[in-house]
Amino acid sequence: MNIPSKESRIKRLKLVGLNVLIPLTILFLVIYICFAYFGYVFFPVLKGSSGVGYVEPNIVNLPIVDTNIKVDNPDSKDIDPVPVKQPTKVTPKPASTSNWWEYPSKIYQTTKSGNDLLVLVNKKYRLPSTYAPSDLVLAEKSGIRVKAKGTYYVRKVLINDLKELNIQAKKDGVDISIISAYRSYSTQKSTYDYWVKYNNGCVSCADKISARAGHSQHQLGTAIDFGSKENGDVVGSSFDSTKAAKWLNDNGWKYGFVIGYPKGSESVTGYNYESWHYRYIGGSNAMKMVQSGIILEEYLKQ
Ligand SMILES: [Zn+2]
Repeated sequence: MNIPSKESRIKRLKLVGLNVLIPLTILFLVIYICFAYFGYVFFPVLKGSSGVGYVEPNIVNLPIVDTNIKVDNPDSKDIDPVPVKQPTKVTPKPASTSNWWEYPSKIYQTTKSGNDLLVLVNKKYRLPSTYAPSDLVLAEKSGIRVKAKGTYYVRKVLINDLKELNIQAKKDGVDISIISAYRSYSTQKSTYDYWVKYNNGCVSCADKISARAGHSQHQLGTAIDFGSKENGDVVGSSFDSTKAAKWLNDNGWKYGFVIGYPKGSESVTGYNYESWHYRYIGGSNAMKMVQSGIILEEYLKQ
């Protein structure tokens, strides 16, 4: 039997070590490094365990964008309740835009006195049937043209501003008249009843155009319906396109008069756009309101 010598066994071991173990070790290291650096790319299921050199994309702070979410409709039942970080604040729209003319089921008495220039009178808050201003004077005292003399009363508190308004409008070549002003509780009642009858008993039809007794700003003596020769001093949408309507819209607030039912705000005010209906809230209040960019209804709710 040929027994290998000690030298030849060492030589063979060296050969095995050089030819097998070293390449195997190198191969193992290469595989390990490759796996450590790129393993998650090829085996994403392993994500979550720590990997050498693996940088997880910063996906948690990215805004979730779902094109199916209609952010302009906060009432939509389709919106997933999972909180979504919105890049900009979404202003909620009023609760109902469909039946804006309807009165709420619960109606309250106004929280401020009728004498307060900032009392909120709308479909939810009504003035007491007994309220009437104590300082009513004829509107023509201000020098403004009126449709019918001796007919329209306003509160004395606004006479000076109305006078200034009229002077400036005339200077600007604009004719402005008064075609309606103070309405007592009983007048409102008969006016509303007239509109219900006119619409063959249709209450919702009347609610779109006329206030129920106690709910009209005209009971305050600070609400005025303006007219103009331009449209024959009549109340209604023919006033919309007059120079007078534009002038009042641009300048009325400088004299304390602000539009009561602006265009596009039906769901907030509960009334159709009325280009002719203004309410006096005083010069400083009107300026604050205009500067804050909100409508009268919202300003009075503050
Ligand atoms: Zn009016």
